Amino acid sequence: MQLRFKTELTFDGYATEHGWERANLPTCPFHPKGRCGFAAHGTYMRKVPGVAYVARWYCPEAHATIGLLPDFYASRMPGTLDEIEETAARVGASTVEETAAKTRPAAAPAAVTLATAVRWVRLRVHLVRVILLAVFGIFPERFAPGAPTVAHVRERLGTTRALVALREIAEAHLHALPKPLGLNPRSRDAPMRADPPQQSPGSDGDLSPA
Ligand SMILES: [Zn+2]
Repeated sequence: MQLRFKTELTFDGYATEHGWERANLPTCPFHPKGRCGFAAHGTYMRKVPGVAYVARWYCPEAHATIGLLPDFYASRMPGTLDEIEETAARVGASTVEETAAKTRPAAAPAAVTLATAVRWVRLRVHLVRVILLAVFGIFPERFAPGAPTVAHVRERLGTTRALVALREIAEAHLHALPKPLGLNPRSRDAPMRADPPQQSPGSDGDLSPA
């Protein structure tokens, strides 16, 4: 499971200042009253854009590790939200091929081919689009009218770190949002929702005839 480590640090600041040493999780997210053996559990390493660490805890009763992911990191994939956002923004202003030719993905090998770079860029553009569509669905009045593009969201939020800002804005929804914005929900046990949700009769969400 991932929880948010709320920080305004960028990767460079976090790496230089050993930000993971300041991460603090006083109580178990599964057992707020304690007595479950919840304890610090070292760190795990991330390698992109450079080596840094994420602080981690463990609850023996829930059989779960809990990582405190700082806001700048992409979740469940390498790299940072800023890098992914910038890639999507560049494609918005030019083409995938031009962006791929100019971008040297930190996650890819140095001898990256153009075809690899194009795939790398396309995946990030796709992920950002999926995230923005989901966020627009959660906060329709906040972003309408306008298309789910990085340019529009940056303009609305008044920042060039829009994905990082969305970690705060969509905090209550992070465990339901897709990567690289959404945080990993508890995944050690069975899927959180194994059965489809029950339809409630008379719900105003479904007006089509049966
Ligand atoms: Zn616990």
